Amino acid sequence: MTNIVLFGKPGAGKGTQAEFLKEKYKLTHLSTGDIFRYNIKNATELGKLAQTYMDKGDLVPDEVTIKMLQSEVEKNPNTAGFLFDGFPRTISQAKALDVFLASKNEIITATIALEADDDILVARLLDRGKTSGRIDDQDEDKIRNRYQEYNEKTAPLMGYYKEQNKFHAVNGIGTIDEITVRLSDVIDNL
Ligand code: AMP
Repeated sequence: MTNIVLFGKPGAGKGTQAEFLKEKYKLTHLSTGDIFRYNIKNATELGKLAQTYMDKGDLVPDEVTIKMLQSEVEKNPNTAGFLFDGFPRTISQAKALDVFLASKNEIITATIALEADDDILVARLLDRGKTSGRIDDQDEDKIRNRYQEYNEKTAPLMGYYKEQNKFHAVNGIGTIDEITVRLSDVIDNL
C-alpha cells in the first residue's frame, strides 16, 4: 500500500488537493475533520463530543480521534493505500498510527507538507467561512487558536517524520493545478 500523510496548517489546501490525489493514485481519502463533521451533522454521540472541541478550534482528544481513525481504516481492507488528511495531528496520534499500521504489516510511505504563510491562510479561512458554514472558519480568534494548536501539538510531527526520512514539503501557494503537480512530483519519486 501507499500511505501518504498530507500535512499543513488549516487552510493550506489539504482537502482540495486530496480530492485530486485520491483519484490520481486510487487512494482512500480519510479526513478526520470531515468524519467529525459528518458525525456532527448526524448528531451521533461522537459528533456531540467532537463539536464542543471543534467549535472552539481545539483538537479533539487523542483517544477519541485515534479510535475513530482506526475504525475508518478497518472499513477499507482492499484499498491501494490511504491519503490521511488532518491526521495525525499530535505525536501520540502519529505513534498510534505507526503501531496500528505495523499490526497490518503496513507503514507510512511519506508525509507531504503544504507550506504557506499564516496571514495568507487566515485570510483564506475567513473567506471560506463565508460559504462553508463552519463556525471554526468564521471567527479570527478561533482561527488563531487553531494555529496555536497546530504550532504546539502538530508542528513537532515534522521532526518525527524527518527522523524517519519521510518528510517532504512543497510550496502551497499557487494555482490548484500547480500545487497538484508539485505534490505528484513528490509521490512519483517515492
Ligand atoms: P479540519 O477539517 O482538518 O480543519 O479539522 C477541523 C477540526 O476537527 C479541528 O480543528 C479539530 O477540532 C478536529 N480534528 C480534525 N482532525 C483532528 C485530529 N487528527 N486530532 C484532533 N482533532 C482533530
